[in-house]
Amino acid sequence: RPLTTSDLIEEHRICVCVRKRPLNKKELGMKDLDVITVPSKDVVMVHEPKQKVDLTRYLENQTFRFDYTFDDSTTNEMVYRFTARPLVETIFERGMATCFAYGQTGSGKTHTMGGDFSGKNQDCAKGVYALAARDVFLMLKKPNYKKLDLQVFDLLNRKAKLRVLEDGKQQVQVVGLQEKDVKCTEEVLKLIEVGNSCRTSGQTSANAHSSRSHAVFQIILRRKGKMHGKFSLIDLAGNERGADTSSADRQTRLEGAEINKSLLALKECIRALGLNKPHTPFRASKLTQVLRDSFIGENSRTCMIATISPGMTSCENTLNTLRYANRVKEF
Ligand code: ADP
Ligand code: MG
Repeated sequence: RPLTTSDLIEEHRICVCVRKRPLNKKELGMKDLDVITVPSKDVVMVHEPKQKVDLTRYLENQTFRFDYTFDDSTTNEMVYRFTARPLVETIFERGMATCFAYGQTGSGKTHTMGGDFSGKNQDCAKGVYALAARDVFLMLKKPNYKKLDLQVFDLLNRKAKLRVLEDGKQQVQVVGLQEKDVKCTEEVLKLIEVGNSCRTSGQTSANAHSSRSHAVFQIILRRKGKMHGKFSLIDLAGNERGADTSSADRQTRLEGAEINKSLLALKECIRALGLNKPHTPFRASKLTQVLRDSFIGENSRTCMIATISPGMTSCENTLNTLRYANRVKEF
């Protein structure tokens, strides 16, 4: 049965979803098997081909349950409606909202969050960033919200390394941050495109750099200069880090270690939020330091979109992603 808006669960503090992408040309070309099924709106199954000692083949079926599961025919608009859309209200109610895409490189994180500007997929050019910005602007037209100003922060729009500093008052400052006042969705879309191209330019493959960096896009509402609400939308670095630890390049190893650390810290911070723990381990990484105020606020909500590749060749990474997603909500 396809998802309908009546399936929307509004009271979630933490929402964990999974999105499966279709097999791509390369996978089809090498006759990769689709090992993922989405039998219902909250279940995803992995059918892993295995072999017994006597060489007979069998499928090991593993079932995972989440708040929502999206199959490979789901559009960005639909994914958005069940994930980030409910969080738009949160930031207008003085809350902190976070929505991030987590998964293996090539599984669809950027497609989901940033959208697809290649012109390849016309119908899903807009991703979660743009759709959220669209709805924030719509809300701003309402009389109660007319006094609010909107700013967009882009942690991407620079080549230099970001530095995260904590001042004496435990306020986190990000050095090298770009901040822009915006008036309409088109301005936001332009920023996203610039940000995306900064992230991938000078790289041999479009995914080479973006898979090793977290992109944080923030929408901030202010009333008379004071923060009213904040929406952090994050396209995380690829979660496959196996090869890094043995890389000959020191920089690569260090980056890999930082990514591992930040993804682990992120999981712990969300769990702390769910458990209403007073102490959130946000200091463990730069990523969680940047998101600090989103994890400690009274009115904080978070949504994770775990993206998975359908192919048998990605099975191990897919299972890792699903296990991580499971842990985020398992208390
Ligand atoms: P990631 O950011 O996780 O590394 P991308 O978002 O760049 O992965 O996706 C890799 C490729 O797969 C891109 O060419 C993208 O257009 C395509 N793709 C990803 N998700 C989908 C989807 N749900 N439907 C169609 N194509 C997709
Ligand atoms: Mg990407």
